[in-house]
Amino acid sequence: MSTDAVDAVVVGAGFGGLYMVHRLRQLGMTVQGFDAAGGVGGTWYWNRYPGARCDIPSLFYSYTWSAEVQQEWRWSEKYAAQPEILAYAEFVAEKYDLKRAFAFETKVTSAVWDEAARHWTVTTDRGHRVSARFCIMATGCLSMPRAPGIPGEDNFEGRTFHTGTWPHEPVTFEGQKVAVIGTGSSAIQSITEIAKTAHHVYVFQRTPNFSVPARNAPLTEQDYAAFWEQYPAYRQMVLEGTAGIAGGSPFRSLTAEQQRARFEELWNIGGAGYLGALADLLTNPIANDAAANFVREKIRDIVKDPDVAEALLPDDHPIGAKRICVDTGYYEVFNQENVTLVNLRKAPIEAITRAGVRLQAQAQEYPVDAVVYATGFDAMTGALLNIDIRGEGGFSLSEGWRDGPKTYLGLQVAGFPNFFTITGPGSPSVLSNMISSCEQHVEWITDCLAWLDANGVDAIAADPQAQEDWVRNVNEAADQTLFPKANSWYIGANIPGKPRVFMPYVGGHYRQICNTVAADGYRGFRLSGSADRASRRVVRT
Ligand code: FAD
Ligand code: NAP
Repeated sequence: MSTDAVDAVVVGAGFGGLYMVHRLRQLGMTVQGFDAAGGVGGTWYWNRYPGARCDIPSLFYSYTWSAEVQQEWRWSEKYAAQPEILAYAEFVAEKYDLKRAFAFETKVTSAVWDEAARHWTVTTDRGHRVSARFCIMATGCLSMPRAPGIPGEDNFEGRTFHTGTWPHEPVTFEGQKVAVIGTGSSAIQSITEIAKTAHHVYVFQRTPNFSVPARNAPLTEQDYAAFWEQYPAYRQMVLEGTAGIAGGSPFRSLTAEQQRARFEELWNIGGAGYLGALADLLTNPIANDAAANFVREKIRDIVKDPDVAEALLPDDHPIGAKRICVDTGYYEVFNQENVTLVNLRKAPIEAITRAGVRLQAQAQEYPVDAVVYATGFDAMTGALLNIDIRGEGGFSLSEGWRDGPKTYLGLQVAGFPNFFTITGPGSPSVLSNMISSCEQHVEWITDCLAWLDANGVDAIAADPQAQEDWVRNVNEAADQTLFPKANSWYIGANIPGKPRVFMPYVGGHYRQICNTVAADGYRGFRLSGSADRASRRVVRT
């Protein structure tokens, strides 16, 4: 097998990988990209289920690095649907000729650091073998769909779907009986769409989730004008790392009437901004209860059957401690004759049979034509650990992360020189506007690589002590919040046997921390072939 040599390999052609390739080319580097998908778009290539759309307003869920793209692209709706977001990724890829860098339908199977040669050897399931000085993983936080492992899944004789690997050809459920398993964001978006044409939809709910209305609407000229007016303030919020959710006043500074008015106001505006109702909503259990109770009241108001409403009330986690869902008529759908909520707390699923879904205890079977698994992802670490990644001394990443992921800043791992993760665990990633977070990591990595060359440094890797300190920092930051109180995928709780470690960084000031580390001569990183620290201090522009 011949080995091609490039400066950098980038795995993933989602919003992270596409921008990374662009910036590496600007540095004059040669790049080989890979993606298991048949094209660009990442999340938006794979998640083609009915109703899939962003839950951060499209005007903000956009790249900011290209003024031309910002001027030329026009979003049609406040929350764009999947086909439009995919078209946007394709538009950017065409404009900057990015597809040429990628081999598609190609899965990276291993990445091995060669200590002597000081490069990575990356291999794929299609026989590529590429050596590269830098290996950059833009493999995504929600890119490893999770089959629930229910007994009998393969026996089902009808059609089976997973929201995260939806087919490209049109799918119709017209006149059919459909089982949707799960009630997370993907389910909540797809159920309302599927129920428009299906004969009957059975919603299999294990744990109720909080959902707020999106109040999606076409974008008007006025919306665009208002966006450009507030753009400098928005950029500032991004730079300050506040994720675009404006914080309100603390719970105790408001009267009960004022709190209610605030909840009502944000409920009426719609979207995940509801979590910004109170400054301490995600840290103070009493504030959180108030916000959660308001949503519970709304559910009781909307859902006509009181038993169904009761079963839909989330009761096992603080609101926002699991990703809040953003819907278009979710609770309302349970008022339709053709939708049934199956409460798995009364009887869990025993098996998928040839004809449908059978519950335990009740021995009750729901015959259906199609089963839609909306059962989520092995999040944040799944795609990385699916690759055999070996650093210094042949040490494997899966061994290093046996007790949970350990990174420095979510960007690098000790023992893995010249290896970077875009939106890796230990960075804000899934708790931020992820396009902004991809951009920030890409820009930090680009500056780092330019600096290494300018300073004659061969290789960079996280210092083990700096990594330990950062991991502690990530955990301590999470412990100041209500996030650890939920059995969420943020903590690995959805995957049996996965270490329970809170993975995103919620401590704030993240961008400033990364910038300071770089300006301080890449403090906390080990550099080989470098001058001493005093000469490494740099002024960033
Ligand atoms: P991805 O888009 O996940 O791309 C990673 C790519 O890497 C994939 O194409 C995958 O095929 C490829 N890959 C992985 N492993 C390998 C391998 N071994 N070999 C080859 N290729 C590989 N975030 C928000 O901020 N706002 C939203 O509204 C929002 N909505 C979402 C809706 C859905 C349905 C989902 C699932 C996620 C959503 N997210 C949202 C999160 C979303 O994942 C990010 O916003 C963003 O698209 C991630 O971009 P990425 O480039 O980091 O990763
Ligand atoms: P998810 O939030 O992990 O939800 C998975 C659902 O499947 C849960 O309701 C879970 O129940 C259920 N489930 C899993 N295994 C089951 C089993 N064996 N039996 C019954 N139920 C089972 O996954 P997701 O909905 O795909 O969303 C993942 C993330 O992607 C979101 O949190 C969000 O970040 C992103 N996303 C965003 C949007 C958007 O609005 N833009 C849309 C989709 C996804 P339990 O809770 O009981 O485990």
